[in-house]
Amino acid sequence: MNKAIKLYLTKLRDKNSDRAGFQHNAHMISTLLAQQALLHIKTKDVEIETPIASTSGLERTQEVVLVPILRAGITMLPAFLHYFPGAAIAVVGLKRDEKTAIAHRYYQNFPPLNKNQQIIILDPMIATGGTGVSTLELLQEKGIKQKQILFVSIVSAPEGLTAIKSKFPDITIISASTDKKLNDKKFIIPGLGDFGDRYFGTLE
Ligand code: URA
Repeated sequence: MNKAIKLYLTKLRDKNSDRAGFQHNAHMISTLLAQQALLHIKTKDVEIETPIASTSGLERTQEVVLVPILRAGITMLPAFLHYFPGAAIAVVGLKRDEKTAIAHRYYQNFPPLNKNQQIIILDPMIATGGTGVSTLELLQEKGIKQKQILFVSIVSAPEGLTAIKSKFPDITIISASTDKKLNDKKFIIPGLGDFGDRYFGTLE
């Protein structure tokens, strides 16, 4: 793991981090992940003129669609918009049933999609992979190819990664950490607890 990510992730996991610290460290990790995501965007070689001379460089050729999965996915949006200004945003509302851990779709609002775009799904926690699989199915129904999809998360469980990869082997997943496993309540071990509750302040 990249040392910068490890520094921020250590603070993010720590149960003694307050909400301000949790939000700050989540934003910093999202920024580092957005930088990694940038490496997957298609580019072309270009010639430009500096005020002094001509030189060669790179230009992006791919439109980006960010797909934050509500609720926790929206916390990664500011960092990704920083790297991908002007990206279209497709919002997907999925909530996992706390008892069954099954994801239910309750909202979706998509911009026009096409086969040339880079789709970037944002969800900080891949636990069972249920919400991820449901989002990927939705994108597949809309004609998006697996090769167009990058899935970015902060902490993942091996069970969730396997569930996603077994159904969608050709997508690319970037995760700051792959943790040990899920506990019997489907929380990630060691994980960081409930990401949404810690970030939004909805802890009981
Ligand atoms: N969602 C979270 O926020 N935390 C987990 O450990 C699993 C799912």
